[in-house]
Amino acid sequence: MNASFDRKKKKAEWPAFVDLDKWSHAKPQIFVIKSRCKECGFCINYCPEQILEVSDEINQKGFHPPRLKKGDSFDECAECHFCELICPEFAIFVKIPDKGEKK
Ligand code: SF4
Ligand code: SF4
Repeated sequence: MNASFDRKKKKAEWPAFVDLDKWSHAKPQIFVIKSRCKECGFCINYCPEQILEVSDEINQKGFHPPRLKKGDSFDECAECHFCELICPEFAIFVKIPDKGEKK
């Protein structure tokens, strides 16, 4: 981001309907296409931040898809996309906030 960007000044200038705080704290999001998962555990085991775990849910194939570990937050996600790259079923993907959405 531009080094000269003055958040406080900008916030004062922007119209009230723009929630700049909410916008600036956008987190990565992880999506799982549950029906595709075959519970191989690759995404869980190889996530460098160890923020994924096996869920209680059961998909149509009888497998438990992954979910965010209880007590963890997407703030911990390293945005590495490794879970996405390693999944043999293309069942998990990560949405990184656009540059403008981050601090
Ligand atoms: S993007 Fe990286 S850190 Fe985030 S959940 Fe996937 S493997 Fe873990
Ligand atoms: S890597 Fe893919 S198929 Fe394997 S547990 Fe994760 S989401 Fe399911």
